[in-house]
Amino acid sequence: MNSTAGKAELVIKNAKELLTCKDDSPDLIGLVNDGWVAVSGGLITEVGAKKDIEPMISAETEVIDASGKVVAPGFVDSHTHVVFGGSRVGEYFAKIEKLSQEEIKRRGIETGILTTLTPTRGLPVEGLYDQTAARVRDMIVSGTTTLESKSGYGLDHDTELKQLEVNELLAQRLPINIASTFLGAHGWPHDSAKEAYMDFLIREMIPLVGNSKLAKFCDAWCDEGHYTAEDCRVILEAGIAAGMRPKLHSEGYSYIGGAEVAAELHAASADHLNYAPRHSLRKLAEAGVIGTPLPGIDFAVGHPLPFELAPMIEEGLEVAIATNCCPGCWCTSMPFIIILACRRHGFSAERAIRAATIAGAKALDLAGEVGSIEPGKRADIQIWNLEQHEDVAYHYMTNPVGVVIKDGAVVVRDSRILI
Ligand SMILES: [Zn+2]
Repeated sequence: MNSTAGKAELVIKNAKELLTCKDDSPDLIGLVNDGWVAVSGGLITEVGAKKDIEPMISAETEVIDASGKVVAPGFVDSHTHVVFGGSRVGEYFAKIEKLSQEEIKRRGIETGILTTLTPTRGLPVEGLYDQTAARVRDMIVSGTTTLESKSGYGLDHDTELKQLEVNELLAQRLPINIASTFLGAHGWPHDSAKEAYMDFLIREMIPLVGNSKLAKFCDAWCDEGHYTAEDCRVILEAGIAAGMRPKLHSEGYSYIGGAEVAAELHAASADHLNYAPRHSLRKLAEAGVIGTPLPGIDFAVGHPLPFELAPMIEEGLEVAIATNCCPGCWCTSMPFIIILACRRHGFSAERAIRAATIAGAKALDLAGEVGSIEPGKRADIQIWNLEQHEDVAYHYMTNPVGVVIKDGAVVVRDSRILI
């Protein structure tokens, strides 16, 4: 090759294992030994062997040697509530110590999502951004390059919009894709009846958020004591009318038919699914909905019914996993979620890596752009200081991520963020 047009801006060479995570890979992760990757213009331009890519190196090409290491797509964390103020550490220990409701009340410990409502409402946008950005920087250092982020800790006009504004700031200021989700139906405020609040969502907030293009998805929490399946249908249909595709918190703590609604409305994903029976899982699979069980929240709350992977796979569901980073599950690390998915829920390492990459991209309607290492996709790539991919689920609590590349630029080197 002698034209500069054929030269690469960045080349990753000699990956001991290159996990392409192509959707149709028979081994789930598209494993290539001794893999090379070429990048230009922020995109992956070529994936192959030394003979394919070495001729694309010029004097200007940045070459990263991945000898003895694993190269993988950046993680796609497809379910988070990362924009919040406050903490629920009191509730966390109350649950660990199995305190009675009376004792929790006596000690004045607040519980549930409303605990962080006041702190989130009280922060100015830059203060909320600063707290959130610290968590998102940790996520980037842990290999995440695409992040879904929900509102839902304001439950009023100004704070819901403020959370979505923080999402925009994150996307502008940090090297990460943000998929923004409006979750006004996370609950309803103490001082409001559910019906009145739903009316406010449907008449005012959802059209406003949709018209302002502040969110790609509209979400709701379907569970006993929260919104009913029929409530969720009405809320998500309003979201569809405003241009937002549905996602749904479904069957996390009870089975009340949310999965059926998610299937009928062709939601991008149905998330949690602890109590979803097989026939619901099958309906989700048939409708092309991605199932997103959440190993982190099952761990953090000591869930009475941790989700089961096998029925999901047997019913044909594509499974994604995500951190569900929130005040009830303060987790910024996709590698930790992979560890939990494998050890506690029976994922193979390959299944967990797929769930954290290409399947997560599908849950965000982004599989054409991210989630795998293929020509034409964004150059969102990470390099693990590991010799084999299984070690990502086996080496606990040491960040395996040495290098993160976002849109073709190195943003993490030696496990340190550069921005
Ligand atoms: Zn959630």
